Amino acid sequence: MRCFICQHCSNPSFIFREEGTRKVAAEMGLKVVGEILLEMEIRKGCDDGVLVVVLAPESAVSKTYHERTINVVSTLDELARER
Ligand SMILES: [Zn+2]
Repeated sequence: MRCFICQHCSNPSFIFREEGTRKVAAEMGLKVVGEILLEMEIRKGCDDGVLVVVLAPESAVSKTYHERTINVVSTLDELARER
């Protein structure tokens, strides 16, 4: 959750330092498996105690979660093969 898109001006608003995750990962020799925008649907799901992928499975953010999950599994598979 690196940023959200402002509803007023449509500019990204970074919650943490911009590119901070990538910079720290590079310093530590780690791979960033993906980023997810903090979107209103995530907040609504958290407030209701329902995962956004259940609340809105066809939403863009749910599809992003799905893609990131595949990336995590793929990365874990690569790491397991290296051993
Ligand atoms: Zn704004």
